[in-house]
This record gives sequence, structure tokens and C-alpha cells, in this order.
Amino acid sequence: TCPAGETFAPAHKLSQVRHLVAVMSGKGGVGKSSVSALLATTLSRQGCRVGILDADITGPSIPKLFGIKERVEGSEFGVYIPKSPKLGIYVMSANLFLEREDDPVIWRGPIISNVIRQFWTDVAWGKLDYLIVDLPPGTGDAPLTVMQSLPLDGVIIVSSPQDLAVMVVRKAIRMVAEMKVPILGLVENMTYVTCGKCGQKIFAFGEPQGEKVAAETGVPLLSTLPIDPELSRLGDEGRIEDYTPTGLEELASTLEDRFKS
Ligand code: ADP
Repeated sequence: TCPAGETFAPAHKLSQVRHLVAVMSGKGGVGKSSVSALLATTLSRQGCRVGILDADITGPSIPKLFGIKERVEGSEFGVYIPKSPKLGIYVMSANLFLEREDDPVIWRGPIISNVIRQFWTDVAWGKLDYLIVDLPPGTGDAPLTVMQSLPLDGVIIVSSPQDLAVMVVRKAIRMVAEMKVPILGLVENMTYVTCGKCGQKIFAFGEPQGEKVAAETGVPLLSTLPIDPELSRLGDEGRIEDYTPTGLEELASTLEDRFKS
């Protein structure tokens, strides 16, 4: 097994990041990137200075969600960081270095790990209250790199009812625990859809599992988000910043306190 937490890479000398929070999921498609983006917009609306480090190097979706099309180039002073159009959230992603946004990134694990580390060490993030790290799905090489080489304050695990097979979430929870990184809690996404006519909640993917998993694992359920076609539409249009309320307002306003407990 890997020695956990031994070599924290120092941040760029122009970075003063107060809290580094990673967003993780057991598998893809549960809404991890959407939750990362919404957590960032919610914190930003509450007055925090926020950035997103897109550690999903081979499947980056953060620039698209925010409609960021600029390309960046590195220099010996670090790299220029694009900002989201509305709230000015700083975003660093492998996609911002590609000539075309649909160019594939075909790199092996060690190179991917290096790029993730460089996003922390070589990017002048400036003064941030929160840097949100959008991890790739699962418990593979890249999440391992982030947990070993970035000084994370905590991890938020995103799941959906159909994915929230206790086993998958337990794997994620156990990995984080083994890495000795604090787990802030779970966000259950796509838990229900609200009927447009009568307002009734329809549990499209079966019974919500969040409470059960929270009780079984002792990891708190932080928020439960509905399926909302509006979120998906705004994400597709690169306007995720326009999605309000996000359902993460309470989580965002209590996040600071959670680092203390
Ligand atoms: P992941 O990062 O886990 O792969 P994404 O955030 O990319 O997942 O979401 C996958 C797809 O599901 C996207 O098209 C996104 O717009 C959609 N989606 C995510 N959460 C919701 C939600 N709560 N309601 C409706 N669509 C959602």
C-alpha cells in the first residue's frame, strides 16, 4: 500500500488557498462535475473567492459547464487562469490546453498524475477561500495522486440512488479514510424528480439511499438534490452559473464549520 500524506507538494508561491476540497464519486455519470460546479457557484455567491481544479484529465467537463472557451499557455511564471464569465470562478483544466475541445487526451497514468500535481504547484491561484478539486470517477490512479500530493481539507462524495449501492460508496469512503483525508460527507444527486403538475416527488431511481448509507457508514448526508432538466440544459449550454437555487446553499454556508469538527 502507498504511504499516505508523506509528500505534500508545495503550492505555487503566489497561491494562498484557505481550503482545498475534493469532490469524488464511486462511478461516472452520477453528477460529480455538476456538484463540483454548483458548490463553486454557491460558495462564490456567498462571497467566497473560489477556483476549480479539474483533475478529471481525460474526461474534463468543468470548462464546458461554465462555457469557458479560452485556451491557456504556460510560461515560466506559471499559467494564466481563465475565469467563469459571470461569477469569476477560476478554472484550470486539461481541456483549456487543447487546440480543439474535442481533442482526446491520450496519456498514461504517470503523465496524468504529473499534470494534476502541476495544476497545484505551477498555477498561481492567488488568494482563494476555496479550491474545489473535481476528481475523476472511481478510486484509481488520479484520485490517489490528489489524495497523496495535495493538502486536502476534506472530500465530498457524490452518489445517486441507483449507484448508491453501499459497496461502491464504501469503497470510496474506505479509500479516503486510508489516505487519512477527512470525509466531509455525502451528496445524493438525482434522488427524485418533482411532478410539474402536482409537485409530488417521484423516486425515479428507486428509494433514496442517502440516509441509510449515512447511518451505516457514519458519514453525514450533506444534501439531497433532485433530477432537474433545467440543470442539465444550463450545463449543456455552458451556463451552469445561472442555475439557482442550487440546493447546496446550506452545505456551502456551513462548510467552514465542518473543517473544525
Ligand atoms: P459525472 O461528473 O459524475 O460524470 P456529470 O456532472 O457530468 O456527472 O453529469 C452527468 C450528466 O447528468 C450531465 O449531462 C448532467 O447535466 C446531468 N445531471 C447531473 N445531475 C443532474 C440533476 N440533478 N438533474 C438533471 N441532470 C443532471
